Amino acid sequence: MRVQCPYRCDYCLNLKGETNHWWLRPQDAIQFRLIRWDYAIADVEGYEHICSESCASKALSQWLAQASGNLVRPASKPELSLRTQ
Ligand SMILES: [Zn+2]
Repeated sequence: MRVQCPYRCDYCLNLKGETNHWWLRPQDAIQFRLIRWDYAIADVEGYEHICSESCASKALSQWLAQASGNLVRPASKPELSLRTQ
């Protein structure tokens, strides 16, 4: 399948060229992560497309702003035990 419609950066709306090295970010309120561009993941819903270091910083500031807003809920509630596997 050929992708005719190029990807756009979610922060500055740049179009992705074939040789650009971009990142993907899972929209995760708990953890800020950037992963290297992967076409298999780029189409998955819930991933942001990030074109550059400056857009990655924008993503981080936005995430930090959200994260501080999320501190309202109790911090010590053991609802997510990821250790049990
Ligand atoms: Zn960008």
